[in-house]
Amino acid sequence: MSEELRELYQEVILDHGKNPRNFRDVKDATCHAHGNNPLCGDQLVVYLKIGEGDVIEDVSFVGNGCAISVASASMMTELVKGKTIAQTEHLFERFHAMCTGDEDHSDDGTLADDDMDRLSVLSGVRAFPVRVKCATLAWHTMNAAIHGQDESTTEV
Ligand code: ZN
Repeated sequence: MSEELRELYQEVILDHGKNPRNFRDVKDATCHAHGNNPLCGDQLVVYLKIGEGDVIEDVSFVGNGCAISVASASMMTELVKGKTIAQTEHLFERFHAMCTGDEDHSDDGTLADDDMDRLSVLSGVRAFPVRVKCATLAWHTMNAAIHGQDESTTEV
């Protein structure tokens, strides 16, 4: 990766970290969950409104955390809104594989590559295992909410 590109990626993370999108609660949320990453001190609540056909009609988060965890949550809310739960879970699998360096090439074509391109700004965390937990916290928390669990912690 060129230096310019690296700087651009950091800017995207800083921008989302400072001005998180969908940073609010959803009044008529159908589910929510608390996410906790004690290693870093990141704490999030993810709200989801799931409608007909398992479509995520609204998604948001609130909480406190480092720039990586907030940026990742912010980008997640932008990406999964309007998607079905199945599409969201597939995206999470690919994102998780990207963060852990366990790249999954079994792309079945159901996702726009744009989504992975946008998430790739966070792929730098793979060099820092502690940061992987920051980057995936919001996703684990969303997953917990979808499956009716109230809490998600990175300590498993
Ligand atoms: Zn963190």
